[in-house]
Amino acid sequence: MRTLAVILGDHLNEDSAAFDGFDPRQDAVWMAEATDESQHVPSHKARTVLFLSAMRHFRDRLRARGLTVIYQELQPGSLAGLLQRDIEQYAPERVICVWPGDFRLKEALSPQVHQFLEDRHFLSTPDDFRRHAEGRKQLRLEYFYREMRRRYRILMEGDQPEGGAWNFDADNREPLPAAGPGKMPPPLRFPPDATTQAVMADVEQQLPGNPGSLASFSWPVTREQALEALQDFVTHRLPLFGRYQDAMWTAEPFLYHSLISSSLNLKLLDPREVLAAVEQAPAPLAAREGFIRQILGWREYVRGLYWLKMPGYAELNALDAQAALPRFYWTGDTEMACLRDAIGQTLEHGYAHHIQRLMVTGLYAMLLGVAPRAIHEWYLAVYVDAVEWVELPNVIGMSQFADGGIMASKPYAASGKYIDRMSNHCGGCRFDPAQSTGPRACPFTTLYWDFLMRHEQTLRKVPRMDMQLRNLVRLKPEQKKAIAEQAADIIRTGCPTTSSSAPAAASAPLWSNV
Ligand SMILES: Cc1cc2nc3c(=O)[nH]c(=O)nc-3n(C[C@H](O)[C@H](O)[C@H](O)COP(=O)(O)OP(=O)(O)OC[C@H]3O[C@@H](n4cnc5c(N)ncnc54)[C@H](O)[C@@H]3O)c2cc1C
Repeated sequence: MRTLAVILGDHLNEDSAAFDGFDPRQDAVWMAEATDESQHVPSHKARTVLFLSAMRHFRDRLRARGLTVIYQELQPGSLAGLLQRDIEQYAPERVICVWPGDFRLKEALSPQVHQFLEDRHFLSTPDDFRRHAEGRKQLRLEYFYREMRRRYRILMEGDQPEGGAWNFDADNREPLPAAGPGKMPPPLRFPPDATTQAVMADVEQQLPGNPGSLASFSWPVTREQALEALQDFVTHRLPLFGRYQDAMWTAEPFLYHSLISSSLNLKLLDPREVLAAVEQAPAPLAAREGFIRQILGWREYVRGLYWLKMPGYAELNALDAQAALPRFYWTGDTEMACLRDAIGQTLEHGYAHHIQRLMVTGLYAMLLGVAPRAIHEWYLAVYVDAVEWVELPNVIGMSQFADGGIMASKPYAASGKYIDRMSNHCGGCRFDPAQSTGPRACPFTTLYWDFLMRHEQTLRKVPRMDMQLRNLVRLKPEQKKAIAEQAADIIRTGCPTTSSSAPAAASAPLWSNV
C-alpha cells in the first residue's frame, strides 16, 4: 500500500486534501470508531451517534465510488491504538491526515501520521490568523470580520459594506413578543435510517452510561440531508434570524436558528455554500448580515484563536474559579426555570442555541465560579456540534472570561434581569430576577452582584465594565453583606439551599462509566 489516508469523524468532505492525488489502485482510506473518543469526556449519546452514523454513511459513499476503506466499527480503545494496529497489518509507505479539530488528537496521532494536511473547509488558515494577530495589542472579532468580508467580497459594494454599515445589531436581538413565537414551521428533522439505528444499538450497548437521550435523534447524517436542512433554514427561519437570535422561550428549543453547526463541523456542509445561500436569500439585510457574521466571522475567528493559543489556552483561569460543576448540569433537575429548560433540551437534543449557552448555562457557571476545565468538559460532552477548536474558545474565552479578555473585551456578566428581558422563563419560575436577597431572590441576581464584588479589583482594569461597577458602588454595606452571605450558600451547594434539587456534586461525576 502506498498511502493510507486517515479520515477523522469531523472530516467528512469528499473534496478534502486527503483525496488529492488519491489512487484507488494503491491507496486506501482508514476510518475508525474508538470508544475513547466518547469517553475522554462522557459524550452525549446523540453526539456519538451523529458522528458515527455520518462516518458510516461517508464510508459507504466512498466504497460506492470504488475506494478501499479500512473501517473499524465501534470498539474499545483509542484512535491512535487502532491506527497503529492497522499500520502494522497493512504497512503503508505513508500515512496522511487532515489537520485534526483538537490539539489532543493531533498530539496522539503525530507519531503515526507522516503529514498533516491543511483543512480546506475553512476560509482562513491558522497562518492567516497568526498574521492577522501579529503586532495587534488586542484581538477583536470586528477587525478580523471586516478583513474577511473584504477578502471574500461578501455583502460588499466596492470597498464598502452593503447597506452602509458593517453590522445591524440595532435592528437585531429583540425579545419575542409577549404572545411568544406563534406558529412556526418546525425545522426539518431526519428520523434515523437503518444505518443510524445500527449505530444507536452499538452506542446503547457499548456506552450505556453516557449522558443524553436518543429518543429525539433526528440530525442530518449525510450531505444531502445537510443541504436540505440549510435550504429549510434559509426559506423559513432566516428572515427573522437576526431579530430573534438572542431570544429564548420555554419549550422552544430551536426558534429561528439554523441548526447547521453540526453539519458544518462534520464538514457535510461547506461554509462557502452556506454563505452564498444566505447572501442571495430574499431576507432583510440585517438578518443576512447577522448570520454571515457568525459563519464568516465568529466561526473562523475562534478557530484561528484556538490554534494560535493552544495548548496553554485550555489551562487559563484568569478569575481563579475553583468550584465544582453543579450536579444538575447532568440532569436538568433544578428549580431555576431557565437552566431547567436549557439543560433539559440539551440532554434531549444535544442542542441549545447561542444565548442559552452563553447567558444561561455559561453565565451561571461563571457567576458561581466553576473551574473552567470542568465547564469546558461539560460543553465538549453535551452538544452534537462540539469539537474542541470551536467549543474551547467559546467556553474559556467568551463565556467564562477565563482568558482574561483575549477573546472578549469584557465578561458576559448579567443578572437575572437579562434573562427576564430576553425570555418568558422568569414568569414561570419561583425566583424573582429583581431580588438579590431573600428566599425568592434569583440566584443569577445574587451571584451577579457577588461576582462584581469578588472580582472588583480585576474588573476595574476592564474598561467596558465601568458602568456595571458604578452600580455596585450604589449598594449599601449591609446590602453587600447580605448578598455575599446568600451567594456563599449558593456557591457551597451549587444552587439555592432552599431548593429541593440536588446539591452540587463536589466530587463524584453523575455519569456512570467514567
Ligand atoms: C459556551 C459556548 C459553547 C459553544 N460551543 C460550541 C460548539 O461546541 N460547537 C459549535 O459549533 N458552536 C459552539 N458555540 C457557538 C454557537 O452557540 C453554536 O454554533 C450555535 O448555537 C449552533 O446552533 P445553530 O447551528 O442553530 O447556530 P445559529 O445560531 O443558526 O448560527 C449559525 C452558525 O454560526 C456559527 N456560529 C455562531 N456563533 C458561533 C460562535 N460563537 N463560534 C463559532 N461559530 C459560531 C455556527 O456554525 C452556527 O451554526 C458555543 C457557544 C458558546 C457561548
